[in-house]
Amino acid sequence: MTSPLLTNQPAAADPQPEPLALTPQLRDELAGASQALEQATPEQIIAWAVDRFFPRLTMATAFGPEGCVIIYLLSRIQPQTYVFNLDTGYQFQETLELRDRLAQKYGILVQLKKPELTVAQYEAKHGGPLYQTNPDQCCLDRKVKVLREAVQGMHAWMSGIRRDQSPDRAAAPIVGWDSRFNLVKISPLANWTKSDVWKLILQEGIPYNRLHDQGYPSIGCWPCTQSVMFGQDERAGRWSGSAKTECGLHGMEFEQGGGI
Ligand code: SF4
Repeated sequence: MTSPLLTNQPAAADPQPEPLALTPQLRDELAGASQALEQATPEQIIAWAVDRFFPRLTMATAFGPEGCVIIYLLSRIQPQTYVFNLDTGYQFQETLELRDRLAQKYGILVQLKKPELTVAQYEAKHGGPLYQTNPDQCCLDRKVKVLREAVQGMHAWMSGIRRDQSPDRAAAPIVGWDSRFNLVKISPLANWTKSDVWKLILQEGIPYNRLHDQGYPSIGCWPCTQSVMFGQDERAGRWSGSAKTECGLHGMEFEQGGGI
């Protein structure tokens, strides 16, 4: 069954809302919510986020299994939520096709947010692909800066990170404050395991990236993603062979402790 297609653009009303400031009151509220939601289901966490922040609530997705699960849940809770993808120009064709399949099934058309320069312009400017020589700069230019732009006017964003994905993510709160983007950050799947996610995907027939069936547990840009061996860490195929583990979108907010 297909759903009517929504464009999932940011809300038009109130075009220049005040950015959210982390006041002591907000800090207390978020810490309390995070604690209260610790045993909640992803559906309950998303419903809380929608009640509290929609339409200033957004979600960034790279179309991983977790993002697909959140899109499925949003289609039942608030399908007009603004969902976007950082379209670096280096994504797999399978990833972009998944966007179409999700739109067809759930009516949620994930917006593609692109960097200022095309891949050809960017590589010409830097004398070749920067992902080979300076992947941090490449991620900064083609992901982090684009995300900063995409969340203008938003007060909260959701991500699909899970605590069991990697040591970097083990302390992720359910609700936290993301000081890099000045947004409340909600992780509805923080307490879920990989098998919880896949159980729901298979049970509900949620579309997922076909590359997962070819040995790619975690999929980002094609130059920085490899298949992994059975038993390897699920993010081992990302920036394989380098010390880099994250693209700069997730991480630092967890250092603040206490769930904020
Ligand atoms: S994941 Fe790789 S190709 Fe994609 S933005 Fe980062 S360095 Fe560039």
